[in-house]
Amino acid sequence: MKPRDTEPCPHCKAEIDVSQHSRHVATCIDNPVVLTATRELLRVSPESETMIGMKLFERRRKAAKNKSIPNCTSLAKQCGGSWQQVAAKVGLWRPLSSESKGALNAPLTFEERHACVLRVGRADTIQEGKT
Ligand SMILES: [Zn+2]
Repeated sequence: MKPRDTEPCPHCKAEIDVSQHSRHVATCIDNPVVLTATRELLRVSPESETMIGMKLFERRRKAAKNKSIPNCTSLAKQCGGSWQQVAAKVGLWRPLSSESKGALNAPLTFEERHACVLRVGRADTIQEGKT
């Protein structure tokens, strides 16, 4: 019944329309090259295991000009639909929700504000009152 106008993706095995096939393969999240590049772009920082949000991802993606990194909509779609599923797919922690950020907005203690100087034993250089 259905004409043979699709071809399976070698990475995710999905049947892809022949007209979209090469574009899909080049940005398929199951393609190891795409997964690695996308994961690096999603990290908060190079050492971080936490993932950035969609808006920042789009800004970084445009700046990176790496054609193998899918846009956030296509990326989410490929991973199951949500940004949380993207996190699971690439193996990073998902971003904190605005509720769980509340605790992080508590005022810092003296030790937290001056962790670096205290650590090197130069508390005498601290000038409180300036930020
Ligand atoms: Zn694929």
